[in-house]
This record gives sequence, structure tokens and C-alpha cells, in this order.
Amino acid sequence: MIARLRRAYRGMRLGTRMALGLGALSLVVFAVVGTALTTYMRDYLSAQLDTQLAQAQIAQSKSIADYGTLSGKKYYSWFYAVYDVSDGKTELRRPEDPADLPKDVDDFTSLARAQTAAHTELLRTEHLRGAGSYRLRACQVEPGVVLVSAAPLEDIEDTVGQLITIQVVTFALALLALVVFGRRMLRRGLKPLSDMASTAHGIASHDLTESAARLPLRADGRDGGPEVDELRTAFNTMLEHIDDSLAVRAEAEQRLRRFVADASHELRTPLMSVRGYADLFQYAAANAPEERDRHLARLRAEAARMGILLDDLLLLARLDAAEVEEPLRMEDADLVELVSQAADAFRAGRPGHPLTVLTGPGPVRLPMDPLRIRQVVDNLLTNAAVHTPAGTKVSVEVALVPGAAEVRVADTGPGIPPDDRARVFDRFYRVDKARSRDRGGSGLGLAVAQSLVRAHGGSVELNSAPGATVFTVRLPAPGVHPADR
Ligand code: ATP
Ligand code: MG
Repeated sequence: MIARLRRAYRGMRLGTRMALGLGALSLVVFAVVGTALTTYMRDYLSAQLDTQLAQAQIAQSKSIADYGTLSGKKYYSWFYAVYDVSDGKTELRRPEDPADLPKDVDDFTSLARAQTAAHTELLRTEHLRGAGSYRLRACQVEPGVVLVSAAPLEDIEDTVGQLITIQVVTFALALLALVVFGRRMLRRGLKPLSDMASTAHGIASHDLTESAARLPLRADGRDGGPEVDELRTAFNTMLEHIDDSLAVRAEAEQRLRRFVADASHELRTPLMSVRGYADLFQYAAANAPEERDRHLARLRAEAARMGILLDDLLLLARLDAAEVEEPLRMEDADLVELVSQAADAFRAGRPGHPLTVLTGPGPVRLPMDPLRIRQVVDNLLTNAAVHTPAGTKVSVEVALVPGAAEVRVADTGPGIPPDDRARVFDRFYRVDKARSRDRGGSGLGLAVAQSLVRAHGGSVELNSAPGATVFTVRLPAPGVHPADR
């Protein structure tokens, strides 16, 4: 039974529970107030009756003293009995008519006797057989004469009984109203919370597996007081966070998909060429032997291009997974020397592009992977040569700024259109796809450069205008200060 009640209580809504709790509390308060009120009322009425008894006895005593008899008759079911207690006996003297007394007068007699012994007024409550509860009072009228009066307690009990009935009825009504209206009010107060719960349910049933999924729901409304408002704000902030991270994840997924699609597309081109040249080679081997070597050389060149592409892809993949394995071999190396070597190689390989080198005095030593940084510089220099017309001036500069060393590769070529600037660092992105591919580019050079520099904790920036395109590679250089040089 108790277990069932407990289970039912657990299944109740919070508002109902609180209303019931409030009801129980009020019940206790009502009980205490009711008991106090009833007790006070009963005591007050009893005291009043005692006073009335005393006053009536004074009047009767006067009558007995003056006329030797009781005044009047039985009054409102009051009783008077006069006892003669002289000489050690206790004898009923008045009233003479037994109809004026209850059937059983033992209680009167014993009180008269007790009064004789005590020599003072005595008060007692007795149940008189056939007459009900009575308040008895005994006092001495004159030596040897004791007056016992009895007043019925019935009226007091009736009044108190009525008071209790009224209290029970009004308290029960008040309690009922409290529970019913209290529950309604509490429910209304708690409604924002249940609204929030249904928002959460709505989210739970929302499909988050779709890419680019956003949570369309927010807890709205304004009512509910500051606590509920706080909860609502926290709830919405949490949803915002979830939304953001979902968006980031969806974006990453999208990028990965595009990357895989682009990679396979880019690999297909050289692969097709390899197949074509292999067919041509076969044909030439049988029909035109002098063509054979040319086809073989082209076949090799395509295979090499594919190899470079795969190397770049592999490097990017390893840099992406940098937390798993460290793809860099860090050591203390001189940036100036590294840039000078790259410049020498550039001068030898690209005689059509005059190169200026500005490295400043003295070495700039920083922790880095020299092979990879050389790859970055090579990529930027190659771009400056490949994507600009012949004769374009190229310059490379090593500079120190507070906390970092910079390599700036600049050219006076046509520059990169503003719309493409943000995207040239994307994988496989080429401003002019067709022409760039003719030059052997796959669009991975800048992506690789950026990933490598970021793996070093640095950044690559692009500033481009027609006639002035500058790529700035910034590498953190903890112990190096511009003033040191
Ligand atoms: P890869 O470097 O993989 O061989 P790529 O040079 O085409 O190919 P990125 O180095 O990533 O690829 O460069 C992306 C694009 O940015 C290039 O296709 C080119 O259009 C543009 N770009 C890069 N550097 C310059 C530059 N110095 N001047 C003008 N355009 C440039
Ligand atoms: Mg390039």
C-alpha cells in the first residue's frame, strides 16, 4: 500500500506534488490553530460558568441566611442542594422535593463532605447519572450548612462542538481551495519549464545526421521569473554551442568530401595521359620506332607529376593528422641561409625572372624543419615565376618583427583577383584552372605551404594588387629580436 502510494507520488507532476505538500503543511497549521482556538474557547466558557456559579451561590446563600430557604426553584436545569454538616454528619436538607434534584445525589453528598473537610469552596466536574455532565460547586453558607450548586456543561459542549464543526468545514474548504488553485497556479508557474522540456523533446526527435543540419528550435517566452529566465538562457546557449559545433563538423565533412572528389579528379588526368602514352608507345614500338622514346619520356613525365601530386596529398594528410604523429623534424636552422639556397636554385631554374634577395646582416636562427620551410619558400618562388609573365621581377626578403621572423616573397606580376584571394590557399584551388594545369600546377602548392607553416605555429598572408603580389610567411622566433641584428 505504502509502496503503491510512493509510486503514485513519484508519477505525479511537480506542480501537483508541490500543491499536495502545501496542502499537508496547511493541514498541520489548521490543526494547530483549531486546537488552540477550541481549547481557549472551552477554558473561557468554563471560567465564565464558574463565575456564574459563584455569583448564584452568593445569591442563594443570602436567601438561606435571610429566609432559611433556597430562592426559587430549579433554574435552567441547574441544581441546588443544602446540606447540614454539623456534628460530623452530612444530611440533605433542601430541596425537600426530590424532583428538584437528579436521581443520584451521591456526587453532591461527597462534595459537601469534602467541603467540610477542606473548609473552602470546592469546584468539580462530574457526570450525573441521568442528567449529563455538570460543574459542581460547594461553599459554606453558615457554620454547619453547605450549599452545593450544579450547572450543566451541556451548553459549553454544544458551543465547542459547533465551533469544531465550523472550523472543520471552513478549514476543509480552505484546504481544498488551496490545493486546487495552488496546483493550478504552480502549474502555470512551471509551464515555462515544461515548454523547455518539449523543446528538448523536439530536438531529440530532430534528425542530426544530415550534413549541414541546424537545430531549428529555441526555448522562447519571457515569463517564469529570473530563475527560469536564467535556465532558458543557459539552455539556448547550449543549443547555440551544439549548433555551432554541428556546423563546424558539417563544414569539415563537406571539405573532406570535396577534397577526396578533387583528389580523384586530379589523379585521373595524369592517369589518362599515362594510359594514352602507353598505347602510343605500343603503337610506335610496332610502327614508328623513332617516336618511341618521345612517348616514353612523356609517359615518365606524367608518372612523375602523379608522384608529386601523391606526395603533396600524403603530406597534407599527415599534417591534418598532426596530433597522431609529428610530421616535422624540428631543429635549429638559419632562415637566411635557407632562403639564400632557395634563391640560388630559383636563379638557376628560372632565368627569365630576375630575383632580388634582401636578407639583412647576420643569420636568423629559429627552431624549424628546414626541408619543409625550404619547400614553402620554393612553392612561393615557383608560383611567382609560373603564374606571372616572363620578365616579371621577383624578390625575397627575410625580416624580423617582434617575436617572429618573416619571409616575404613578392612579384610585380598581374596579381590575384580580390575574389580569389581568400581561396587560393584551398586545396586544388586555381585561379585559372585550365591555364594553371597547363603549367603543371595542381593547386596544392599554397595549401601545402599554409599547412606546413601552421604546423610550425606560424601563418601565411597574402597581399595582392596588380604589380605587387606579396606572400608573407611568419614563423614564431622566440629568442630573436629585431634589434639583435
Ligand atoms: P601547384 O603549386 O600545386 O603546382 P598551383 O601553383 O596552381 O599548383 P598554388 O600554388 O596553390 O597552385 O596556387 C594557387 C593559385 O593561386 C594558382 O593557380 C594561381 O592562379 C594563383 N597564384 C599563386 N601565386 C600567384 C602569384 N604569385 N601571382 C599570381 N597568381 C598566383
Ligand atoms: Mg604553386
